[in-house]
Amino acid sequence: NNKSDSMADQQPEREEYAFQAEINQLMSLIVNTFYSNKEIFLRELISNASDALDKIRYESLTNPQALEGEPELKIELIPDKASNTLTIRDTGIGMTKGDLVKNLGTIARSGTKNFMQAVTDNTADLSMIGQFGVGFYSAYLVADKVTVITKHNDDEQYIWESEAGGHFTIQRDAVGPFMGRGTKVILHLKDDYTDYFEDRTIKDLVKKHSQFIQYPIDLLTTKEEEVSDKDEKMDVEDKTDEVKVEEVEDDEDKKEKKKKKVTKREFETLNKTKPLWLRNPADITKEEYAAFYKSLTNDWEEHLAVKHFSVEGQLEFRAVLFVPRRAPFDMFETKKKPNNIKLYVRRVFIMDNCEDIIPEWLSFIKGMVDSEDLPLNISRETLQQNKVLKVIKKNITKKSLDLFAEISENKEDYDKFYESFSKNLKYGIHDDSGHREKIADLLRYYSTNSKEMTSLKDYITRMKEGQEVIYYICGESKKQVENSPFLEALKKKGLEVLLMTEPIDEYCMQQLKEFEGKKFQNISKEGLNTASTEDEKKAAEDLKKANEELCNVVKDILGKDNVEKVETSTRLANSPCCIVTGEHGWTANMERIMKAQALRSNSMGSYMVSKKTLELNPTHPIVVELRNKVAKDKGDKTVKDLVWLLFETALMTSGFSLDDPTSFSSRIHRMIQLGLGLGAEEVKLDDMPSLEGDDEPEADNDMDKVD
Ligand code: ADP
Repeated sequence: NNKSDSMADQQPEREEYAFQAEINQLMSLIVNTFYSNKEIFLRELISNASDALDKIRYESLTNPQALEGEPELKIELIPDKASNTLTIRDTGIGMTKGDLVKNLGTIARSGTKNFMQAVTDNTADLSMIGQFGVGFYSAYLVADKVTVITKHNDDEQYIWESEAGGHFTIQRDAVGPFMGRGTKVILHLKDDYTDYFEDRTIKDLVKKHSQFIQYPIDLLTTKEEEVSDKDEKMDVEDKTDEVKVEEVEDDEDKKEKKKKKVTKREFETLNKTKPLWLRNPADITKEEYAAFYKSLTNDWEEHLAVKHFSVEGQLEFRAVLFVPRRAPFDMFETKKKPNNIKLYVRRVFIMDNCEDIIPEWLSFIKGMVDSEDLPLNISRETLQQNKVLKVIKKNITKKSLDLFAEISENKEDYDKFYESFSKNLKYGIHDDSGHREKIADLLRYYSTNSKEMTSLKDYITRMKEGQEVIYYICGESKKQVENSPFLEALKKKGLEVLLMTEPIDEYCMQQLKEFEGKKFQNISKEGLNTASTEDEKKAAEDLKKANEELCNVVKDILGKDNVEKVETSTRLANSPCCIVTGEHGWTANMERIMKAQALRSNSMGSYMVSKKTLELNPTHPIVVELRNKVAKDKGDKTVKDLVWLLFETALMTSGFSLDDPTSFSSRIHRMIQLGLGLGAEEVKLDDMPSLEGDDEPEADNDMDKVD
């Protein structure tokens, strides 16, 4: 104690800092939450050490002098019962004083808040800390005080220290011992965690969580050995740090020689396995892949599927690609999604999320690529134009598609995959024209004829004789599209319709256009013809003729602003009418999506309305009766009101929203009055707007046009 006090006297003054508020909350959470799986702290600190080693190795590729302070790249674990500490030492890049202040306490990562929220909501537990980019603080699961001593090439050695509680201190280290370069994280363990002094415990943990770290992890072990007098001397000089010598009486052979028990401390490398991707896939167990996946990604769950392959010939590389079990919490949040493929060149780690190594729609794939051909000192900038990288990207895309096809052979796995990543596939259809066909094989949709989701291939096998196109409808929810009037005639004829309910579906279908030679037909667009036989076609023609007059009258009533065309429908069975949109314009569904986007970005100006065609069901009693009324008297006043009502209800059932719900409800109220046998005068409501067909001058003028 005395000794350390006098040492402290020689150190420059400590500067005290307050933790940033969120980090402080995070630390309280770590210190106070009851959580039994504390061991993960070691994985997190080793992972930080490995990252720091990656950084200095990468720097040394262009600047070999970077390694001069300490040529060896390694991690050491040093348990010390006497001082009650466990030290994790790396010879990585280290931190300058500025780095210390920023990285360990004052700048909160975006993940800090997300992580606390997820833990509070029980959607994450503390072991997931690494995924949120705040792994360092897991040290406080087992330590009540943490000391970080660090030396960066550009600065002197500094000491960071904190017992949590809102503050940390930083001081220049004037006393040493001095490191050439790197970081020592010294954990002052809480009383309950003396287990972490045991070699066995640490060995097991490293095997479990950190066996694929690319740098040697050396544990300072403690062994008791018996040595004879002769051996002893050499051993002590060679590798023993501390020697406790006690004389052991050898009962049997007292006189001949004396043996001594010696406590030796020596480093033992814990991760000797050769990199997994260099091994033969046939010899690697699922557990080994899972451990590799976890070490690569910090995921707490195992992967869903893996593809491990090598490409040889003109160009050589090996790769391991993983599909995770679920989408990350922020997959569609950021604009530019970083990918999760680590690039190695001849076993040397080069960079995380290397751009252009995998297409953006596959950004959920995790894994690594080890290239034999790229230069070691390649930079992000030169990499982008590199031909080797283009070939790698092509291969990765192809292999990923193969992998998805493999997953699709197991229904349960594929359901999970599709639930998490269907959006990515659809995004791929939209974005990656070269692989459109293959991706389309992977799509699954609900349909009117099958309970389970169906593939396009299966749909085609169920197509009716004479059916030439694949029918689909897009809308807000399964329930809404299932009950849509557009389906009526098709359902009646037993024609299957795919039900699409994700906003991205319609964009995706605009690109896809056809599958295995069959065109897609959006049944809410004009141009749908369900008549297949000659008789049916003839009948449709006749009905069309008979309906022509009514169509013209209706079009005049509604006006050009509301409908482009009024036509006789072949797609309806039970509904009197529906509203379809032009083949190339927006559908109701698209209008809904665009409206929502325009509202969100406050730019209603850029939002345009779709071109609508009102289709009348020529056999529906209401339409038949309207036809009769018009035939008798084109100026029939009730017709106008009814047409507006029909139009507005059709807007709703066809998936549009009403621009003017008030006049719609006024019309409904008027109908109710009529239904109750009340004269208009008896219930005259002051604020009721004037209705079409009322005896008002403008209305009469309107009707004149019809005559
Ligand atoms: P993450 O490692 O996920 O970025 P951490 O909270 O674990 O988040 O660490 C914060 C930062 O502190 C790291 O990004 C790194 O810059 C720095 N750091 C942590 N440990 C070390 C270390 N052993 N050597 C150098 N820098 C480190």
